[in-house]
Amino acid sequence: MHTTPRTVVTGGAGFIGSHLCAALLDRGDQVICADNFLTSGPENLVELRGHPRFTLAECDVSVSLPVDEPVERVIHLASPASPADYLRYPVETMRVGSAGTANALELARAHGARFVLASTSEVYGDPLEHPQREDYWGNVNPIGPRGVYDESKRFAEALTFAYRNRYGVDTGIVRLFNSYGPRMRPNDGRAIPTFIDQALSGEPITVAGDGSQTRSLCFVEDTVRGILALADASHAGPINIGGADEITMLELAKRVLAATGSRSEIVFIDLPQDDPKVRRPDITLARCQLGWEPRVSLADGVARTVRWFAGRHATGNGKAHP
Ligand code: NAD
Repeated sequence: MHTTPRTVVTGGAGFIGSHLCAALLDRGDQVICADNFLTSGPENLVELRGHPRFTLAECDVSVSLPVDEPVERVIHLASPASPADYLRYPVETMRVGSAGTANALELARAHGARFVLASTSEVYGDPLEHPQREDYWGNVNPIGPRGVYDESKRFAEALTFAYRNRYGVDTGIVRLFNSYGPRMRPNDGRAIPTFIDQALSGEPITVAGDGSQTRSLCFVEDTVRGILALADASHAGPINIGGADEITMLELAKRVLAATGSRSEIVFIDLPQDDPKVRRPDITLARCQLGWEPRVSLADGVARTVRWFAGRHATGNGKAHP
């Protein structure tokens, strides 16, 4: 009988996953990271690989999730997450949301473990209600380009509730809103890494549309604290975890210019199809049920992210990843 809690993190090599694995190790857990590096790379695990309580299971969780040890928690993050990634891997995205989620749920079921699904604000689509509360059902185009991601997460949520209702698996769902911070890839298509990379390279900052569309950004440290709070609770969710302050993309570009001291000009490019115009979570449920709210201000989070990207630029790693 092992005494140290063991957590399986699928997608543990990714942006959020690698921070989550580090936080779990910091608090004394054993961590098994299951990842096939589809949208990440081993460099995210450099600081974790030598840790005595860390194990990497390199696998495609849509095919199998080979873990034999007893586990207390399965946190399912594996999925392409940025639009650039899920447009490049549309079928893989749907597989990992369906078969991958089923495999992760089966693992939790076999071990009597708590299961947490990392869902997304994209289940709300281009929302007709603002801000978005968990009881809003969303406005999603199933056959639009973003449908592969939005619908696979909606399916994953439904499957999670099916396992809860049919097999009594202890499940929770977090709906994450835009998270940002160190270890995002400069070319992953999301606004913060794109703007910072462009600013540091002295290239024009490309703002989509007229820049009036909004997002609410959450620093990754806060995101991870929210995921862990739900993992430690018994709440089924879904629970929104995201930044409470909404910002337009044009304002964000200006903040990045100020934080980097860059003289890059701002240019406007076409808005992607089905791009949500507004996005802000109602985080009342997270506050009441989990005692969670964001702690890191946008100014501090952007500054910390810029420092990390600047360090990579200085060592020539700024554009290392596909
Ligand atoms: P990421 O692309 O950095 O990480 C995803 C990880 O999953 C990668 O390491 C990738 O290799 C792995 N993966 C993908 N398919 C796999 C498979 N079949 N088998 C094994 N591993 C696989 O993305 P992220 O930003 O860290 O997102 C993590 C999770 O959080 C995703 O489920 C995403 O949908 C969700 N989420 C993220 C955000 C955000 O702002 N970053 C917002 C909402 C939801």
